[in-house]
Amino acid sequence: MEYKLPPLPYDYGALEPYIDVLTMEIHHTKHHQGYVNNLNKALENYPDLQEQSLFQLLSRLDDIPGDIRTAVRNHGGGHYNHSFFWEIMKKDGGGEPVGMVADEIKKYFGGFAVFQDQFNTTAKSVFGSGWAWLCMSQEGDLLIKSTPNQNSPVSEGFQPILGLDVWEHAYYLKYQNMRPDYINAWWHVINWEQVEEYYRALVK
Ligand code: MN
Repeated sequence: MEYKLPPLPYDYGALEPYIDVLTMEIHHTKHHQGYVNNLNKALENYPDLQEQSLFQLLSRLDDIPGDIRTAVRNHGGGHYNHSFFWEIMKKDGGGEPVGMVADEIKKYFGGFAVFQDQFNTTAKSVFGSGWAWLCMSQEGDLLIKSTPNQNSPVSEGFQPILGLDVWEHAYYLKYQNMRPDYINAWWHVINWEQVEEYYRALVK
């Protein structure tokens, strides 16, 4: 079974003016497609691993044969992270969290504004390429963390609830070196209903 690029749940221009149409198109059709292709290539000679889910592969990287472990971490992580990322955005998104996740954010961070501030600091502080995440730990606690490169939080035992790609390919065409402007804009396109859905899937 080969991995396939999932279609975006909206048009490339749907997140304008916050994330521009050209960035979305290149990000999806070139970068994400590249991770999918390279993941398939890495698993080519490992039919047993092709039977496992990507979550299984990423959550037990130590069990992956040494010759393809880095490729699975990078390209499997890239496929997993981007598939997640597209879903937590939408046209006319933004505003504040809803439902259970809103209550949990308040419980763990004191309020949405405090959470947002801490998330922004983490996202701005990623050195080089990587991601900022709101995750759930194995104990069920919410926390903000970053991962380098395309490393996925699931490889460290954390389940993503919200995530932001801060690779330059995610913003450079429109924002150049102004990563903070991209981060601020991104809050306007968050699909909080989907974030709530991800949260509920973890606690059910
Ligand atoms: Mn990306």
